[in-house]
Amino acid sequence: MADFDGPPKDRQAPITHRELEDALRRISQQDVRIKAFENASRWTDHARLVETYRRGRVLLAGDAAHVHSPFGGQGLSLGLVDAANLGWKLAAVIRGTMPETLLDTYTAERRPVAEAVLANTRAQIAIMRPDPQAAAMRISWRISCGSTTSTASSAR
Ligand SMILES: Cc1cc2nc3c(=O)[nH]c(=O)nc-3n(C[C@H](O)[C@H](O)[C@H](O)COP(=O)(O)OP(=O)(O)OC[C@H]3O[C@@H](n4cnc5c(N)ncnc54)[C@H](O)[C@@H]3O)c2cc1C
Repeated sequence: MADFDGPPKDRQAPITHRELEDALRRISQQDVRIKAFENASRWTDHARLVETYRRGRVLLAGDAAHVHSPFGGQGLSLGLVDAANLGWKLAAVIRGTMPETLLDTYTAERRPVAEAVLANTRAQIAIMRPDPQAAAMRISWRISCGSTTSTASSAR
């Protein structure tokens, strides 16, 4: 569930049964009743990307280098590919088979990918907002994709 009501006051505060039910009722305008939920966490559309993945002997990978909203489920794989890109380079430099400058290709190769993911997740947030401008974007997107389904649900 995504509720566009600003950042949580306390990200660590447990999500209560009542809080979830109230939000679902407000968003759906239906008399929703929750009997149980397995797991719930708070997150925001906070998005940040470091300028460089390497400063001397300090190398960043994964969420240490980039954070963004979880829409699209891209964060974990983004970090894993950072590690795959960096791992063999570190090994080669440590073994002395490649020059240290090889490590500078890490930022050059991985930062543009994170930049694209941040843009992609920010776009997803923008188009999901419950305001008329975002609704218009959803309708325009459907039209440009050639969708023939009703635009009524997109406008909500
Ligand atoms: C709600 C939600 C859903 C998500 N769903 C998906 C999904 O479907 N697919 C996907 O690909 N990604 C998803 N992500 C993103 C994904 O969870 C993260 O991108 C990923 O876990 C980042 O891994 P990481 O190892 O870089 O960082 P982390 O998982 O944050 O690991 C960092 C580790 O370092 C430890 N640590 C911190 N400080 C210190 C210290 N000083 N000393 C020692 N250890 C320390 C922490 O305890 C932690 O274990 C989701 C994220 C959220 C919030």
